[in-house]
Amino acid sequence: MKFVVWILLAVTCSATFADDPGSQLLKNLNPRALKSKKPSYIRISPEARYLLGRSCLKYRSLPQWRKIIEDAFNTGATCLKQRGSKQSLEIAAGVEGTAQLIGGKPLKFLCEEEGYSWKASNPRDETLQADAVATDPDNPHFPTIHMNPRKLARLSDADLQRILFHESIHLLGYGHFTHVEYSYSCEHCCFHSKEDSEEAQRLGCSICKGKYTGIKDPRYIDDIMQFFRKGLPAHADIRLAEAQSFMKGHRQERWAKFNVLLLSPLPDQAPFTIPYANLLEKKYTPLNDAESRVIKNIKTPENKVFAFLGGENIQHLANAFFFFYESDYKLAEKELMQAQVTDVKQVPATIRTRYVEHTVPFLETIKEEVAGGLLAYYSDLEFQAVAENKAEAQKNIYPHRQRIIRAFFPEWNPKFFPPFKKADDGTIIVMVDDNEVVRVPASP
Ligand SMILES: [Zn+2]
Repeated sequence: MKFVVWILLAVTCSATFADDPGSQLLKNLNPRALKSKKPSYIRISPEARYLLGRSCLKYRSLPQWRKIIEDAFNTGATCLKQRGSKQSLEIAAGVEGTAQLIGGKPLKFLCEEEGYSWKASNPRDETLQADAVATDPDNPHFPTIHMNPRKLARLSDADLQRILFHESIHLLGYGHFTHVEYSYSCEHCCFHSKEDSEEAQRLGCSICKGKYTGIKDPRYIDDIMQFFRKGLPAHADIRLAEAQSFMKGHRQERWAKFNVLLLSPLPDQAPFTIPYANLLEKKYTPLNDAESRVIKNIKTPENKVFAFLGGENIQHLANAFFFFYESDYKLAEKELMQAQVTDVKQVPATIRTRYVEHTVPFLETIKEEVAGGLLAYYSDLEFQAVAENKAEAQKNIYPHRQRIIRAFFPEWNPKFFPPFKKADDGTIIVMVDDNEVVRVPASP
């Protein structure tokens, strides 16, 4: 039984990039996108392997579209074959033979609201360039690559090729962060443009080979972080945030505990990462090769020097973080209460500004993550106690929650995180400021 508060973050995708998988979900949930009349298509080639939405002709002639589409898939497939790995050869075969791979259905291209409204299918994402009806073969429009009519006029042929190639990889079932990141990496490997850095192509080609054990492989996490951070600096913030939230969702797992260090490699973060690395080393010895590499990567001489600046207070914070993800909530809370991250007296005056500007905000986010996690944990417990009519248990949990709010979220009304009450019909009433705000079933 879990009461989880979901926070939906609206992520705006950049103009030079294609879809994100979130819009897929929305689309599949959005009946308006599916019920409308059928689009009208024309064949691109005699064998009817590709069908083009009629309104695409507003933007390019039929021969122009034919050339863009064929070039996109030929260039992409040739480039993938050159990577030579088992995985890249498989994707190449998929991109080349999209028609066969998707159950003999022709691949369709849509440009305008021809019974398939961009607005209805992407209510959040006016800024996307295209998306692929990719991951759900049950969707009646599958397989379709849908291009945003508001963006189309401004895209060059080269842009379109990149986008179509990127989407064609989604059509094979590879999503962002649910699989190794093939769409972006192979796109930047195979369709190198002037705006792309050398790093984007080099790292893209390396990831595109897919020589990893999976998305939890620390070598993969390391490469994908580098790719977004160094290869695509203009878009690094969005993609890194996505990668980080993916890892955050797995932090109870051993691989993610170590990979926290990959997310935080800078010396400014060392007051936290070095003591945290020590805790991991102590607990998980013997480490496997990948874990040893992650630890070694953090324990550089420069990082070690910076680590001293944190002092004992930060050791408490590292402990709190460590124990929280070891599911030892009692100890995590005890340590968190002793963690003071803004005490900068021990930091030499010469680097105090740097410490305040870079280290303190980072430590604050770590602190908030643990405090927020504990709060969610206690809310879950309390919800469960109410659902099971355990009044005594509820009474014991309540002060923990209030204490965390007072210590770490002083700007909140302690009543904001609501007490729960059980209604006569068995549902749980969520109260805020003594008002009923929502009723939820006692068990999902
Ligand atoms: Zn994509």
